[in-house]
Amino acid sequence: MADLRVVTALRLEALAVGGAVTVVGAGRERAAAWRPDLDGRRDDVAVGVVGVAGALQEDLQPGDLVVATELRTIDGKFQRRLPHGILLAGELRRNGLSARTGTVASAPTFVPRARRRALAGNGAVAVDMESAWLAGALADRPVAVIRSIADTIEHGPVRGGLRALASLRRTRSVLEAWARALGRRQVVLAAPRSFCAGVERAIEIVERALERSKAPVYVRRQIVHNAHVVRDLESKGAVFVEEISEVPDGATVVLAAHGVSRAVREEAARRGDLTVIDATCPLVAKVHHEARRYAERGHQIVLVGHGDHEEVIGTMGEVPGRIRLVESVDDVEALDLAPDEPVAYLTQTTLATDETAEVIAALQERYPRLVGPSADDICYATQNRQDAVRAVARRCDLMLVVGSENSSNTLRLVEVANRQGCRAELIEDVSQLQLSWLNGARTVGITAGASAPDALVHETVEVLAALGDTSVTEHRTTQETVRFALPAQVR
Ligand code: SF4
Repeated sequence: MADLRVVTALRLEALAVGGAVTVVGAGRERAAAWRPDLDGRRDDVAVGVVGVAGALQEDLQPGDLVVATELRTIDGKFQRRLPHGILLAGELRRNGLSARTGTVASAPTFVPRARRRALAGNGAVAVDMESAWLAGALADRPVAVIRSIADTIEHGPVRGGLRALASLRRTRSVLEAWARALGRRQVVLAAPRSFCAGVERAIEIVERALERSKAPVYVRRQIVHNAHVVRDLESKGAVFVEEISEVPDGATVVLAAHGVSRAVREEAARRGDLTVIDATCPLVAKVHHEARRYAERGHQIVLVGHGDHEEVIGTMGEVPGRIRLVESVDDVEALDLAPDEPVAYLTQTTLATDETAEVIAALQERYPRLVGPSADDICYATQNRQDAVRAVARRCDLMLVVGSENSSNTLRLVEVANRQGCRAELIEDVSQLQLSWLNGARTVGITAGASAPDALVHETVEVLAALGDTSVTEHRTTQETVRFALPAQVR
């Protein structure tokens, strides 16, 4: 936790921010000459630089906020990265403001709108006349920079100025939250985490299909449950559709990793003209195979899983009408099967192992002749990620679980950490990390669901490290060596 000092160039900006503000005056000379009077304190004072700026991107409007993740002078002589800007921007957005991150360039004189395109070409988002020199005076002291757009590429500052000042009024509370989150911290990375063999295989299938096809490659539903993966594949040319009927004649279509029902595969085959590549994870395909085998042998099948998950929909559709779904012990009690009926059970691959054990025990008690797979079908990757979280969460004040809300194995990681008595929060990426979670969190664990890229974990670590001295260690519970062969069409 650090004390916050807010610095602006203009008195008007100071009035907009409110509270105690140091006004240094406008322009490079005044900013460069400023020497912070911080009573000799080094580590427990953080400085928020706040003010108006000119837009360098067409879509920025008056009152939009830009939080610097990098600061530089336009001659490139001064440069400083501020990765934590992504956290402040996230907080501002959650407070209903339009905020983005990027490079704020500082120019010695006012940059007319006609010259701004050249600056934008260097990747900067906004331009001001003070931030870089103020940050230069602060050496490595914590600094955050929030600029409010007054002057867009289309409109002059007179029209935008009032809106810019109105947005500044709402920045102080976010800067205060940032200052409270500063401090020394330990980060413990759970391992294994992130991509499993089934997800790597599915992504590689789409990438190889794209390399080999001149036309777009279609993917039915999210190839894996992660928005970043989907966006990345879209940028490479994949087209995501909801149903096979949306795939044009003669195209290549990839079926997603969590599997589809028999009806979907049959619909694709009936088209006759589609090249269908099945990216169903072999461990999910194994559950489908078991479902067919039990059905052929005359068993009623009980599937332990979550009804809204696509894997479950796919497995239930493998032998339609023969599978009953249970999500809890209560559901087991409500089953309409007689105790002497031949009953077999299967499990969704991405459940929490401790919860599943309870449901299976209830099934065994109710159906003494119950049969099931030799081990439950919870896959190695789900099991390993949960074991690692269990080991790490005990030591942590906060566990960050990187992944998407529709990823079952990711949600289970949050639950596993909670059951260890650790606060756990799901984040799609670091922009969703709320500063208040870090208050008092001296040891932060991080894991990622099987469909979340590990790059998102590294980005989170980088941002946490920008909040103070940070030691990073990894706690590995096992090595993973599983690899799945690719389908013949893309080998
Ligand atoms: S989590 Fe398990 S079942 Fe799901 S894709 Fe990965 S390896 Fe396959």
